[in-house]
Amino acid sequence: MTDSLKCEQIPYCALAAEYGTPLYIYSQQAMTAALNQYQQAFASLHPLICYAVKANGNLSILRHFARLGCGFDIVSGGELERVILAGGDTSKTIFSGVGKSSTEIEFALHNNIRCFNVESLAELARINTIAARLGKIAPISLRINPDVNAHTHPYISTGLKANKFGIAYQDAIAAYQLATTLPHLKVTGIDCHIGSQLTDLSPLIEALERMLLLVDKLAELNIELEHIDLGGGVGIVYQNEDVPDLAAYAAAVARLLSGRNLQLMLEPGRSLIGNAGGLLTTVEYIKQGEEKNFVIVDTAMNDLMRPSLYQAYHNILNVSTATTDEFVADVVGPICETGDFLAKDRTIAAKEGDLLLIQSAGAYASSMASNYNTRCRAAEVLVNGTDHYLIRRRETLSELLANEQSCLKSV
Ligand SMILES: *Cc1c(COP(=O)(O)O)cnc(C)c1O
Repeated sequence: MTDSLKCEQIPYCALAAEYGTPLYIYSQQAMTAALNQYQQAFASLHPLICYAVKANGNLSILRHFARLGCGFDIVSGGELERVILAGGDTSKTIFSGVGKSSTEIEFALHNNIRCFNVESLAELARINTIAARLGKIAPISLRINPDVNAHTHPYISTGLKANKFGIAYQDAIAAYQLATTLPHLKVTGIDCHIGSQLTDLSPLIEALERMLLLVDKLAELNIELEHIDLGGGVGIVYQNEDVPDLAAYAAAVARLLSGRNLQLMLEPGRSLIGNAGGLLTTVEYIKQGEEKNFVIVDTAMNDLMRPSLYQAYHNILNVSTATTDEFVADVVGPICETGDFLAKDRTIAAKEGDLLLIQSAGAYASSMASNYNTRCRAAEVLVNGTDHYLIRRRETLSELLANEQSCLKSV
């Protein structure tokens, strides 16, 4: 994307004219390039790269990653349905999450997924019971909480003792011993995921070192693991962050895994799609408040929750050709919440009718969208060179209200 007014070969204004705003726009070439970076950096380790569906589960995006050989990391039965509909390979699909329901476990067993990443003893017992009823053997990995500080936003830090995720490090050996006694489980691996948007490699490496200590202890107990899964979490540039160098990460992993017979798995989400997407929005009004200026746009926290939820920074680019003088303003949406903002105190040039591109909105944007304030979900477009495809229609009000209408009829 050399021309900042275009996504690949298509001007943003042409996409806005055709599809309207707010509009999520994804560059297929940028997605492919992000995956290539992983594949090249880790080539010598032949990893199974399982794209984390929750970052962006649009079926066309999943299909693209499936065609490029990815497996998938899912956190719900709904996400498994997406993988299946997108033609993804369930034998390369792993199931994470602390609250898998019985229905979801059964659905995953029917579809012969690669592995359950188990987060508690209660879940181990439940998977065993369901697998027994179905006459299946469930492949399992234990998600270990390595108790390392990922130095990221508290809401996306997951590897500390106080977090709800994973099995406590000191309980890991006993949990594996228990798992080996359950006849409908097959212990295949170990996993962790310590947080998201990590800007530093050292917690990732520290977590791996701590997991390998467990792998060795387990081997002494004749519990041999087939794979090790390091989770996702590699950060991306939103503003001017230093982000981990994948080649350095891969080199450190290769050094620690050398001489071991462990298949490497990775679960990247944000780093495969985050910078491949943007959210295009139209300026509705410029408002001079008593203390602040506001650029009021037609997209809001229901379309991009990250600024409100994590105080996240997203770069905003005016992609209309005729821009005006710069001023400092909050960029806000129409939602009736003070927390509804896309940027605070941003130096920006904007006037009514301009098109703004909120950058790095490929991950955790459309997938976190809601209908708050009865706002229809935005459309999504995939761009590939000079081609562009509508990969999600803009939601209509009748679709948004459909379930409630049918309830009213029955009263
Ligand atoms: C969210 C999540 C991921 C993906 O994290 P990114 O930071 O987007 O790479 C991977 N694994 C698990 C278990 C997750 O919850």
